[in-house]
Amino acid sequence: MRILVTGGAGFLGSHLCERLLSEGHDVLCVDNFFTGRKRNIAHLMSNPYFEVMRHDVTFPLYVEVDQIYNLACPASPVHYQHDPVQTTKTSVHGAINMLGLAKRLGARIFQASTSEVYGDPEVHPQPESYWGKVNPIGIRSCYDEGKRCAETLFFDYYRQHALSIKVARIFNTYGPRMHPNDGRVVSNFVVQALKGEDITIYGEGQQTRSFCYSDDLIEGFVRLMNSPYELTGPVNLGNPNEFTIRELAEKVIELTGSKSKLIFKPLPEDDPKQRQPDISQAKSDLQWYPTVELKEGLIKTISYFDELLKTADID
Ligand code: NAD
Ligand code: UDP
Ligand code: UDP
Repeated sequence: MRILVTGGAGFLGSHLCERLLSEGHDVLCVDNFFTGRKRNIAHLMSNPYFEVMRHDVTFPLYVEVDQIYNLACPASPVHYQHDPVQTTKTSVHGAINMLGLAKRLGARIFQASTSEVYGDPEVHPQPESYWGKVNPIGIRSCYDEGKRCAETLFFDYYRQHALSIKVARIFNTYGPRMHPNDGRVVSNFVVQALKGEDITIYGEGQQTRSFCYSDDLIEGFVRLMNSPYELTGPVNLGNPNEFTIRELAEKVIELTGSKSKLIFKPLPEDDPKQRQPDISQAKSDLQWYPTVELKEGLIKTISYFDELLKTADID
């Protein structure tokens, strides 16, 4: 198949392109390189079945493909809050354009949605049936509400135009090729530990997250995309093993053998207190569940950042 991956030069997108190429598909990576990097896809450039197009999904796109994975959108709070209007446009106009493209082609389309649609949840763990508690006007809203509106558009194109849609709600995922400066907790802690700098815990570190390793998540993407038409999602994809941020910091220090100290900084506005996916639907419908433990995934991620920090070009 010819498969379009928007956001293909990003952390998750680059792993997805690699996986699809390894299955023998023809892959078109579309990216505006806001948070994505050429370094993430450099090893794929010599593959004749891989093509890259610099393009912003907020503008229409006319190409011919059989499937579309729509991942374009900055994912880290630091990046998505840098230009919040562009973040909402990317989710909303990007979804409209990619859905319009899918409609013209009769192509199946996958949306990378997020656990952020649950906001600061009052239900724990979060099942897909939970509607969420999201602040519509806060500093995270450009991302949360943008993604919620994208989900609305996906389901309206499904109902109105019988488009084949697949919506994944992704929970915190980490692994090699995360941007070293993107401000997310795993990359921050690992880079700080490797450099011997203080580890910055926001708040008291009692808030929780459940961390999924990238390879596990990509397996979930491919299974959901290739599931029967009726299986639209939304489906939670994430690792249900929940840790406090303090526990994560201690694990990173232990695995790197770093002498870094923990320091405490103010908790960002609207920071969710706890987050854990209920993945019973993914288990029963896709026979999918994560297999990589936090320790094992962190070791691979630490080794990636260790190599990266040895090179001059970490932009
Ligand atoms: P990332 O920032 O590494 O990748 C996003 C990619 O999209 C980048 O390559 C960026 O340059 C590109 N992009 C941004 N705006 C664009 C635009 N207007 N046009 C074209 N390309 C654009 O982030 P990631 O972690 O790989 O996330 C990928 C997707 O998964 C995002 O949609 C994100 O919301 C979603 N997601 C990720 C996580 C996670 O924990 N990693 C969790 C929930 C959802
Ligand atoms: N679009 C696109 N590529 C296509 C077809 C459509 O980018 O191959 C965009 C186009 O900008 C359009 C949007 O998708 O505005 C929505 O398309 P749709 O056909 O649903 O609506 P309409 O064209 O009527 O606005
Ligand atoms: N966090 C932290 N120190 C950091 C970066 C993040 O304590 O250097 C916290 C952040 O406040 C949040 C959690 O770690 O409670 C996860 O943050 P991240 O930005 O990775 O993802 P999200 O908040 O979107 O889940």
